[in-house]
Amino acid sequence: MSDWSRIEERLLAVAPGCVRRKVLLAPFTSYNIGGPSRLFVEPTSEDMVGEVLTVLDEEGVEPFVLGGGSNLLIADDGWDGVTLHIGHNLSGWEFDGTEAEVKAGTILLDFIREVVQLGLGGMELMAGIPGGLGGALRMNAGAFGHEIEGTVVKVRGYFPDGVPVALGRSAIEFGYRSAPELQKVIITSARFSFKPEDANVLKTRMDDVLLLRAEKQPLEYPSCGSVFKRPPGYYAGALIQEVGMKGKVHGNAQVSPRHAGFIVNLGGATAKEIRELMTIVSDKVQERFGVELQREVKFVGFDDVRE
Ligand SMILES: Cc1cc2nc3c(=O)[nH]c(=O)nc-3n(C[C@H](O)[C@H](O)[C@H](O)COP(=O)(O)OP(=O)(O)OC[C@H]3O[C@@H](n4cnc5c(N)ncnc54)[C@H](O)[C@@H]3O)c2cc1C
Repeated sequence: MSDWSRIEERLLAVAPGCVRRKVLLAPFTSYNIGGPSRLFVEPTSEDMVGEVLTVLDEEGVEPFVLGGGSNLLIADDGWDGVTLHIGHNLSGWEFDGTEAEVKAGTILLDFIREVVQLGLGGMELMAGIPGGLGGALRMNAGAFGHEIEGTVVKVRGYFPDGVPVALGRSAIEFGYRSAPELQKVIITSARFSFKPEDANVLKTRMDDVLLLRAEKQPLEYPSCGSVFKRPPGYYAGALIQEVGMKGKVHGNAQVSPRHAGFIVNLGGATAKEIRELMTIVSDKVQERFGVELQREVKFVGFDDVRE
């Protein structure tokens, strides 16, 4: 049994003013779903992240790391532990020629806009992917054939026991929406490298993809983007449409009529409803096509899933 008041006291000693109790997680997610976190810590420096992790490791507590919250389904009962939020509290960048050092909590789109304005190419097609830099690295986020792995030079962070780590690009075997070597790393910053290009050309490219997203994606409703990864040789959305699930409503959750790969929160949906609809959809696809859809969205706070 964890002694939560002692843990809170120890956390306050290394992260004064950065620890709160019983914080509702829903507002930190793009789904706008999720119950409270027992403790919620928002470190304001990379060193502080290390100190917080050391305390948690000594107390035998593994935190849940929250970035921009755009790829998460958090249980209705929340997270009965410590949430380590790497967000606006740990954000910002510094350019050095065609390279940049970026803190992990930086909003990806803010950074891309700056990169484009400076006439640096390599990330413009990723404009519109919500969330932060840390989450994007952990997920190897990407769009239109460009993943974040294409520009990264080095990733810095801590192992869960508070030991610092720095991994060069070649030490990370990025895959489709995966970065196995970062699985256990709490990312605090990264270095990126870009190619000089005409800023106007880059801006047009960025605006085009933002427009395309607005046309194709149901951005008017809270969601986590594509629920499932693209199965080899197929498109998840097309398979879901084929089994007649496009537009299917379950409680306040719905398979988007605009994009069958999205399950949206129509307003007031519970995590339970969203999860049930995910299961109904993947069972139907499995039955009909024998294709097992793999979840892209991460589950947090569900007793039967640990990831
Ligand atoms: C409308 C919409 C459209 C989307 N479109 C795309 C798309 O085109 N392509 C795409 O790839 N994704 C897309 N996504 C999914 C999502 O935006 C990405 O996966 C994003 O990179 C997640 O970043 P985040 O900061 O929100 O991470 P979170 O959702 O906060 O976390 C995701 C995972 O990363 C971990 N994590 C977060 N921060 C850190 C950190 N600092 N250190 C270690 N681990 C961390 C979390 O523990 C969790 O396991 C979309 C989502 C939405 C809602």
